[in-house]
Amino acid sequence: MRSFQVCQCGAPLQAAELPTPKAAGSEVLLKVLAAGVCHSDLHISDGYFDLGGGKRLTLAERGIKLPLTMGHESVGEVVAVGPDAAGVKVGDRRLAHPWMGCGSCAVCKRGDENLCRTPASLGVFRPGGYSDFLLVPHPRYLFDIGDLPPAKAAPLACSGVTTYSALKKVGAALASEPIVIIGAGGLGLMCLALHKVMGGKGAIVVDIDPAKRAAAKEAGAQMVVDGSAPDAAQQIVAATNGGAGAVIDLVGSSATARLGLDSLIKGGKLIIVGLFGGDITVPLPVFPMRAITLQGSYVGSLTEMAELLELIRRTGLPPLPVATRPLAEVNAALDDLRAGKVLGRVVLVPGG
Ligand SMILES: [Zn+2]
Ligand SMILES: [Zn+2]
Repeated sequence: MRSFQVCQCGAPLQAAELPTPKAAGSEVLLKVLAAGVCHSDLHISDGYFDLGGGKRLTLAERGIKLPLTMGHESVGEVVAVGPDAAGVKVGDRRLAHPWMGCGSCAVCKRGDENLCRTPASLGVFRPGGYSDFLLVPHPRYLFDIGDLPPAKAAPLACSGVTTYSALKKVGAALASEPIVIIGAGGLGLMCLALHKVMGGKGAIVVDIDPAKRAAAKEAGAQMVVDGSAPDAAQQIVAATNGGAGAVIDLVGSSATARLGLDSLIKGGKLIIVGLFGGDITVPLPVFPMRAITLQGSYVGSLTEMAELLELIRRTGLPPLPVATRPLAEVNAALDDLRAGKVLGRVVLVPGG
């Protein structure tokens, strides 16, 4: 099979001819039908996360080994099933939940494999979907997509479940007041669409790019704000009668986290999802005096993936712009994403 791999951090992915894996034990082999290109693939291929102040967290420190086949938004057709893999058969089309843990620690046992201390995520710690075939270790990670088109369903594996999980953390305020979404890229538009079908009251979307703001407006944002405007926080405070109850920061830079905190009302919550990087300094008395919460949200759990797919079955797919490209164009797709040229999601299709 042909796979596209990070062989050296910061360099283009390289095509490798590898033996097609065999499905043993509980494993299931998928022929990849669609593989979404995610912003975090840029961090993975760069080889580090920016911690601010000139500090970096390298992939080696996170335990990621090269060469690595990336790709964590995958849909495939089952082509082989191990003798102990129950509940799937050859020919089934499945979404692969990529956020795997060890499966046996207390965190995994309670269902939060995405938060396991020894993560084994597809396309990060084990080979992912930028490949003709994808080996999934257990059928519990496979979700029936019914008759959803594979390229449209693939983004649910990361951008879908990530924004679903962040939106759940908003709690009861989701239905009663507008939330703020910072970032109108693939994640932002997904978040906006899911917020609606989850019963959200409305969303103010922030982006520094006018084209992305226009896309958010088109997709139903009640208001868009230029994040680079000096009065961006004041605009949000004015539009929310004194501040937002919840801000979901899908960028996660020093500037956006600062904007998020400055936009909150007393008792409000800033949920940081994005991994752009940086740091902020916050005087500690602000936390008790304003009773604010700063919370991180990392991808989503198996339970949340199941809930999300159930929601999609009831409400239909989010109307997220999805463009498909042949898998062989993976480097060009990553370059376009890095240059901010992608509206919505690019999904790679092997053999195309
Ligand atoms: Zn992702
Ligand atoms: Zn675990």
